[in-house]
Amino acid sequence: MMANNSVKNPSVAVIGAGMTGILMAIRLREAGIDAITILEKADKVGGTWRENTYPGVACDVPAHMYTYSFKGNPEWQHRFAHGDEIQAYFEKVSAEYGVTDQVRFNEALDQCHYQDGKWHLTTSKGNRLVVDFVVAATGILHHPAYPDIQGLDAFQGDMFHTARWNHDVSLQGKRVGIIGTGSTATQVISEISKTVGHLTVFQRTPQWIFSVPDKQYTEADKARLRGNQRLMSKLAERYAFMLRNTFTAAVTGSKVAHALISWLTRRNLRKSVRDPGLRARLTPDYKVGCKRLVISSTFYEAIQRDTVALETTAIERVSARGVVTRDGVEHELDVLILATGFHPFNFMRPMDLTGRNGVSIDETWAHKVQAYRSMCIPGYPNFFLMLGPNTPIGNYSVIAMSEVQSNYVLKLIEHWRQGDLETVEATEEAKVRYNNYLKAGMGKTVWVGGCQSWYLDADGDPAMWPYSWEQWAKELEEPDLDDFHRRSPAEIVPLKPAEKAA
Ligand code: NAP
Repeated sequence: MMANNSVKNPSVAVIGAGMTGILMAIRLREAGIDAITILEKADKVGGTWRENTYPGVACDVPAHMYTYSFKGNPEWQHRFAHGDEIQAYFEKVSAEYGVTDQVRFNEALDQCHYQDGKWHLTTSKGNRLVVDFVVAATGILHHPAYPDIQGLDAFQGDMFHTARWNHDVSLQGKRVGIIGTGSTATQVISEISKTVGHLTVFQRTPQWIFSVPDKQYTEADKARLRGNQRLMSKLAERYAFMLRNTFTAAVTGSKVAHALISWLTRRNLRKSVRDPGLRARLTPDYKVGCKRLVISSTFYEAIQRDTVALETTAIERVSARGVVTRDGVEHELDVLILATGFHPFNFMRPMDLTGRNGVSIDETWAHKVQAYRSMCIPGYPNFFLMLGPNTPIGNYSVIAMSEVQSNYVLKLIEHWRQGDLETVEATEEAKVRYNNYLKAGMGKTVWVGGCQSWYLDADGDPAMWPYSWEQWAKELEEPDLDDFHRRSPAEIVPLKPAEKAA
């Protein structure tokens, strides 16, 4: 058989070997693309599940849905898989599909410049490579946010962020403080409150908490699933259907779904916390789902333990001995835990990334972090940002999102291979149109429901997808080539950074 010489064979650099990077490597190989370089800054695969090892770490999306669609896992031990189980799953899949052997570990991508139709990369080891495509599978929540609290450095005890847990520090019997009450903090509090001497929870804003009991899978449960991908897929789809029609619908405009979720959430608080004073302090003043809904069946029990105190007076400063609240009380602590979240708008940064004409990503995003369909940034040909801005994050499986996006990326690469596109670069006009379309849908969502959350950018715009999951998946089924430049980069009118922000 004659080879089709007109089909180009691209070289691709995948940045990051977390859930998305592993997936991209598998998908690229399935598409017959073998010239893949995978760069990983750490010494093993796993991304967020490698980084987050805090006590109680688990995934609050049901485990059978939080798996690759092509590789169910009959061995899940819990409905809400624990962090180490998930890490083991990714390590296993990565090894089984031959991805791990291909990863260049302990090698971060420092510089990434587009010149003369190629991406020129320099790694932290000083290695250079030149590739056709770059896929940034660098995740969303991996730059810890440290609170801007006066005196933080003065604390003499042990202090660490949840994403940098110091396992050398024993909490047994200690006086521990934790700042934050988000999804991470509630998991930590539920776990460490069982063993610490005393725990002070510094809450700035209460959270709505939805309870779904965990379940331990029996040997019989697992045996039923072993070797039966069809059954596992069915189970995953059942969970996905349920989540789409409850949580996703509730936050994206369905009044009925929102009323139901709100009622269940409020009832959970009412039934779980009997003391009216404590209940009042745990009751948010914003709509359910405005901040990402915390899923926990253990937090309310933990916060009511005798050894746990909820502190709602604002923090004034951190002293050498503990945390001083605005009422002048010094809460003496041995250990201070910062469960204060992440910088979600950094994405692949601090990478030194420049696109066409040497424009840097910091310049491009100086006024607004935006992309076309979350993945394509005008001015950055043949560059894809996985799970970029307005990916429909929320109480849903981020793996499902990556799978939809990886199919879209592969279709675009295929158009490039076939010569339909000389380079894959969304137009500025398409990006603006797309983001106007997103903005038009935000008004009916709960994210603009009067709360502050990591979903919102500096302008208060939610970096979320405001429509249904089905609509998102359908719109990404086939790329619309009219939204991409048809000419070669040399012919495209240069973009000045200021124009991009308009
Ligand atoms: P987060 O939701 O951003 O919560 C940060 C917490 O720290 C909030 O309670 C915040 O209070 C508080 N905080 C921040 N700065 C503060 C300051 N200066 N003073 C006092 N309090 C301060 O972060 P997260 O809990 O790490 O969760 C982030 C996201 O990670 C989640 O929304 C979720 O998407 C993901 N996650 C998922 C799972 C899962 O099971 N799937 C588990 C953990 C995390 P305010 O509310 O007042 O800002």
